[in-house]
Amino acid sequence: MPKPKVARADLKPGEVLCQYCTAKCCQYFALPIEMPVTRKDFDYLRWYMIHGKISLFVDGETWFLMVHNVCDHLQSDNLCGMYEERPRICREYTTDDCEYDGDGLYDMLFECQEQIAEFNEAFQPQELRARFNGSKKKLSLPILNALTT
Ligand code: SF4
Ligand code: SF4
Repeated sequence: MPKPKVARADLKPGEVLCQYCTAKCCQYFALPIEMPVTRKDFDYLRWYMIHGKISLFVDGETWFLMVHNVCDHLQSDNLCGMYEERPRICREYTTDDCEYDGDGLYDMLFECQEQIAEFNEAFQPQELRARFNGSKKKLSLPILNALTT
């Protein structure tokens, strides 16, 4: 049965946000990766993305590889099955800025290899123009606008 959604501000004293969550933070992990520049870089990204539940997102200047996979130790009640021995990153994570009520929006999000390929096609001409002009002009979305500048 789905848990009722409670706003952070409505938590009662002694309650913890995780009590009302479906353990969102235990169902993926994300790693920062180098910003892709060349066609070869983008081809690597396409390769990542044909390996199942993978997405890429960009937060500010940083690109992340996100693997959507539930932790082996997440229990059906959404509690940790190895709480006392859980990894350090789990211990250090807090609800302060967690994804409990996040909107799931990023500066950029790629959910399939086709999106990466299209972005690459849109990005490359600008990159080549920037190199030709001796500067690396930052790409800004929407892509179509960037191409017309
Ligand atoms: S830290 Fe946030 S996302 Fe993770 S279980 Fe708690 S409320 Fe949910
Ligand atoms: S070890 Fe526990 S807290 Fe860490 S991701 Fe797995 S279920 Fe979540």
